[in-house]
Amino acid sequence: MSATANSELLTITLADGAKRLRAGEITSRELTRAFLDRIAATDDRVRAFVTVTEESALAEAEQADSLLSSGDATAPLTGLPIGLKDVLMTKGVRTTAGSRMLDTLVPPYDATVVSRLQEAGAISLGKLNMDEFAMGSSTEHSAWFPTANPWDLQRVPGGSSGGSAAAVAAQQCIATLGSDTGGSIRQPASFCGVVGLKPTYGRVSRHGLIAFASSLDQIGPFTRTVEDAAMLLQAIAGPDPLDSTCYDAPVPDFDAELDRGLDGLRVAAPREFFSDGMHDDVATTIEAALDLLSANGAIIDRSPSMPSVPMALPVYYILAPSECSANLARFDGVKYGYGARQGESMWADMEATRKHGFGREVKRRILLGAYALSAGYYDAYYLQAQKVRTLIRREFDRVFAEHDVIVAPTAPTVAFKQGAITDPYQMYLNDIFTIPANIAGLPAISIPGGFGADGMPVGLQFVGQRLDESTLLGIANAYEQLADWSTIPPSNVGST
Ligand code: GLN
Repeated sequence: MSATANSELLTITLADGAKRLRAGEITSRELTRAFLDRIAATDDRVRAFVTVTEESALAEAEQADSLLSSGDATAPLTGLPIGLKDVLMTKGVRTTAGSRMLDTLVPPYDATVVSRLQEAGAISLGKLNMDEFAMGSSTEHSAWFPTANPWDLQRVPGGSSGGSAAAVAAQQCIATLGSDTGGSIRQPASFCGVVGLKPTYGRVSRHGLIAFASSLDQIGPFTRTVEDAAMLLQAIAGPDPLDSTCYDAPVPDFDAELDRGLDGLRVAAPREFFSDGMHDDVATTIEAALDLLSANGAIIDRSPSMPSVPMALPVYYILAPSECSANLARFDGVKYGYGARQGESMWADMEATRKHGFGREVKRRILLGAYALSAGYYDAYYLQAQKVRTLIRREFDRVFAEHDVIVAPTAPTVAFKQGAITDPYQMYLNDIFTIPANIAGLPAISIPGGFGADGMPVGLQFVGQRLDESTLLGIANAYEQLADWSTIPPSNVGST
């Protein structure tokens, strides 16, 4: 295959790839090979992958091609190569969650989303880098190595799903899965100029997702287009007997709603989402996006106020560490992965395991959580945070009584330089606009919304009503068609 044909394959979408595979214009083997070659050519600089599963990917591509050529390829994603955040359990494939604690973990089962993607015919190219146990906003907290932003290799890709976002931006995968507890899909999507969707809490099964904060975690797609996000969500959504928090509600046909347009759509722009800490270049870009939406039929209402929204960040930093301190108690050196063996006593071994197995940020979260849950502080912190969580939920309900969707910036800045943020609190501020949707369990999407300082991408965020991903996808798709921002970084991260 010629170099041009090869690079042309790398910008393919899931929707287009599915058509071309079925029409016999390309084969899954060619497609899979092209992405594997791209990974080999670029990943020494991008460092998105923790594990590349070349052999199984090529074997699956062969199988897909025989189904396609015999006309038996009924599954929607047949033969399309994707990548998985390393927080998702994959049978027989090392799964680390970015932590030394799970250095040697090879899971005996697949996460529900992983088996659903297999049933849908997708091919996994491997496992993607992340902040340790999904705690972070820059992928600098991975125990292995930091991932670079394909738009500027000196900058971070965002986090915690930085590998998943960078892999799509660097054209190493057509699409990937990530997880979002406080913004970990949307913020890296914003930093890397791709689409990132956090579904409604309970829309997608969390079975086999290594838990961070169980009342907030959701799995969702990274893609180059909104249409692809709908396709991937369709494949992974729906009830699962292995996750009791998963909704029983039937999954709508997301594709059917994509072309609903903007006419008469009631869009709230609550002032609390347009304030604290937003850099000027982000503000200007978002304003231009709002103008484009209103010029094309959307009704933008700037009057709603959500006074509890500024509380979402402190509430999150009580609740998420509290849940994490409970969830991470299972890593004791006995059951999974890394275990220090000093031999003095069981307690000494456990202490050494947790001391060496966890990184600094994870330890900080465990300490914060254990403190907030301890006798005497529980009422003042954890219980209080739960009450404010209810207030935030109610404020969203109030806004959605009169509006279809909320619009906001995804992150207050564009991607920052590696090593630039060392203060944990400054790092936490990255999620000021994404956390509210997690607190309320609502679906939210980040799509490319333009470019800010130094030509870096800026994400535009839409938050929808519970289980109403369809409206979100509709407005996001309409904006994408109008604005038509490039999702291909100009910098050459590797020759093709
Ligand atoms: N950056 C946030 C944190 O560090 C959110 C992470 C996430 O969504 N997993 O907790």
